[in-house]
Amino acid sequence: MSAFSFAGQKLDNNLVGSIASLLNAAGVPNLLWGNYLLTVYGVPTIVDGVAFVVPDALLEKGLSTLSGAGFLPCTQGLECPCLGAPQSLSSLAHLHINDELVVSLYRKSEMLWDFPEFDIATDSADIISASDGHLPLASLARGQGRFPAYLSAVRIPTAIRYCEAVINLLCRDHKAPREPYWLAIVTYILEYVDGTEAFHEECLKDGYRQFYTAMKQGDSKMFHHLKTLRDSLVKSNM
Ligand SMILES: [Zn+2]
Repeated sequence: MSAFSFAGQKLDNNLVGSIASLLNAAGVPNLLWGNYLLTVYGVPTIVDGVAFVVPDALLEKGLSTLSGAGFLPCTQGLECPCLGAPQSLSSLAHLHINDELVVSLYRKSEMLWDFPEFDIATDSADIISASDGHLPLASLARGQGRFPAYLSAVRIPTAIRYCEAVINLLCRDHKAPREPYWLAIVTYILEYVDGTEAFHEECLKDGYRQFYTAMKQGDSKMFHHLKTLRDSLVKSNM
């Protein structure tokens, strides 16, 4: 078992590494998610907490593990300010680091339903370590980039699979409050991740690639491609 306990540490890579290891030790496989993940891909963004995607059946176990390690229970329920803004990625399933910052857990089916099932031992081409050498190093006006090698237990989707997942979410949340948030993320990918070693546009799946390329070229066909994707997702019940 992991000996980690939370005692007010600040949110940084070490804390994220401790949470990932804690969940792993409890048998809860996890992938980093949310704005913190964006910074690993090199996107400069405000970190508003830390989030992980876990298998649906292990969400409760993940929450009780975090709670047992000393993260603070949310006392405000639906009134929690961390849930307020539509662009907020905080989930109802969260514990607090402090009043403003939370650790959120998401069910895989909420965020990565199209992504292959994963467990702790999964050695998959779709998952990499947050300290993978293809990820950028910190640089000026960029996100903080990859984690140090000693925190290699933190795992993330590859930037390509992440981009596809965000496009799926953009389709799912069509005309919903979070739609602009997902669109902004695709823009960030275009601006900051495209052209790095971590992202090769040609690896995007069919359909996603056409949308992405049209968006990159400012081609209005992007809307047509997005609608095609949305229709096919609706047909497959997402
Ligand atoms: Zn809360």
